[in-house]
Amino acid sequence: MIMKTIFQTLFLCLCLFASTVVGAQEIAVSSPDKQLTVTVSLQDGAPQYKVTYKEQVMLENSPLGLITNEGDFSQNLKYVDQKMETVDKSYQQEKIKTSHVHYVANKLTYTVEDAKQRQLHIVFQVSDNNIAIRYELPTWRERRACVVLKEATGFKLPDFTTTFLSSMMTPMGAFARTSPSYESGYTNDEPVGKPTHQNQGYVFPGLFRVGDKGWVLISETGVNSLYCGSHLTDGTKEGLYTVAFPDQRQNNGFGSTGAQLGLPGVTPWRTLTVGETLKPIVETTIPYDVVDPLYEASQKYAYGRGTWSWIVWQDNSMNWDDQVKYIDLAAEMGFEYILIDALWDTNIGHERMEELIKYANSKKVDVFLWYNSNGTFNDAPQGPRNRMNTSIARKEEMKWLKKVGVKGLKVDFFGGDKQETMRFYEDILSDANDYGLMIIFHGCTLPRGWERMYPNYVGSEAVLASEMLIFSQDVRNQEAFYATLHPFIRNTVGCMEFGGVFLNRFLNKGNQRGQERQTTDAFQLATGVLFQNPVQMFALTPNNLTDAPKEALDFMKGLPTTWDETRYIDGYPGKYAVIARRHGDVWYVAGINAQEEPLKLTFDLPMTLQKGETVNIYQDNKDRTLSLGTLKADKKGRFTVTIQPKGGFIIVK
Ligand code: CA
Repeated sequence: MIMKTIFQTLFLCLCLFASTVVGAQEIAVSSPDKQLTVTVSLQDGAPQYKVTYKEQVMLENSPLGLITNEGDFSQNLKYVDQKMETVDKSYQQEKIKTSHVHYVANKLTYTVEDAKQRQLHIVFQVSDNNIAIRYELPTWRERRACVVLKEATGFKLPDFTTTFLSSMMTPMGAFARTSPSYESGYTNDEPVGKPTHQNQGYVFPGLFRVGDKGWVLISETGVNSLYCGSHLTDGTKEGLYTVAFPDQRQNNGFGSTGAQLGLPGVTPWRTLTVGETLKPIVETTIPYDVVDPLYEASQKYAYGRGTWSWIVWQDNSMNWDDQVKYIDLAAEMGFEYILIDALWDTNIGHERMEELIKYANSKKVDVFLWYNSNGTFNDAPQGPRNRMNTSIARKEEMKWLKKVGVKGLKVDFFGGDKQETMRFYEDILSDANDYGLMIIFHGCTLPRGWERMYPNYVGSEAVLASEMLIFSQDVRNQEAFYATLHPFIRNTVGCMEFGGVFLNRFLNKGNQRGQERQTTDAFQLATGVLFQNPVQMFALTPNNLTDAPKEALDFMKGLPTTWDETRYIDGYPGKYAVIARRHGDVWYVAGINAQEEPLKLTFDLPMTLQKGETVNIYQDNKDRTLSLGTLKADKKGRFTVTIQPKGGFIIVK
């Protein structure tokens, strides 16, 4: 009896920690550390929520709900009940920023119903620094299918907030009508609600600085074939950013913009990562915490580094001799892969490709091959075309790929974010797993939890990537600026196949003049650590074996692509970034500076050092050449580093 009372009291305490029932309709749920709180309420029948962190308002009352073809679940709703639970799970994930994750969250299910007594569950999972929100739709009597036409879900940032956002591209624009492909620039510390140029809103993730109270990163995860990819509206209505579905014109106008759901069904999770500093944002695993693998890996996939000729030598290099040079480069560097890019089907052909793969394998190099995802939805002309877009052709091609020993594909030029296209991504991934192929997407959408959901998924571009450094002087000038954004925004919610680390001074085949790189070698090496993707195609060229510093080559030979731990050290998006990553026992601390003046920083390192112990440091000499030296801690055990403008450093220990 006494035991029972103790248990009841304990249970009551646990519930009260997790929630405070303020009124019948207003319910709060807090993170296990109690710093982050979501308060949900019904205001005149419309569900709303707000977010506080350490009692500071980080998100003002913001709308919830969705509109389906069966009815409007964003207004005229009645409160039904609430349920409080805890979620506690651990998982291993080799492909993301951290190899072992322990996720603990308090979960609130807030149930409302419409006048016809059809229910909607609004689910919040609140872990330390992270909130995940989704809708769960039960069956509505005989109704077992519906279409979500629109969501009311919004994010109302305080009016003094500034934004770091990337515009959604206009549909059917850019190269060969291949947009949108998440390759825009960024707003940088601009006020909320400033209109976008193209009025297309902003892609996930969006970073918001809530004055000196802290930071909020908003994104979504868990999008599979059963939903569309969403983005944010442009926030011009009093700084309210709402979840928007794809533009009808995407995918050449084909396919619906909403989501077709079977009932019971769920929406993707919308996530908010909140902190006083950028630390929780750099280190968050929320995109992976709330999803699970959708199928088993058909085999153990091996991640690693690759060379690719296309990035610097471009289309003309798609020939036997040049590909042999890049295979030899990969072998010399000890890289695991070569990526043979567009046009191989016509310039080399399937038959000779089999020979080329044999040659690569003889050098202990495995092969990724490029494919056009088309073709029915845009004008991208590069081949192979029509091999990925139907189930029949795809399986036939993948059977051949498996037979000849190809290990992965880079599939390019997708049509947008409609559910139609999300199904296509999933079909490619699922089929590829059957044939033991890893998949990288380019010209594509943001990955949304895919590292964990799809075992053979190994990367997406979805960024203004290395190719634009070849094409655009403006992007070369802004290289350092963009590079200081990605560790805090794009790359923190998903792996990013950037295709960088150039050691050519001139980004062309001759490396003699033109297309001059503005950043230093140390900067380039640092991006190899700052930009995370389990398979990294690096932009080295065969001439680098003789014209690049030996220290740079040695660094690249030893650089891992998978990480056991990731830590925020310092930084401000657009100005500088310092991140630490651990692989096994070795820590890499990498920093870059996008500012005009040298930047002197003092910081603690994440590893414990013996007194007087030194670390190795790659950094810039004053003449911007690369130096490798050692660095010693001060009396307090702190390290001081000066980063040159558009320069970088890496500490290795
Ligand atoms: Ca691209």
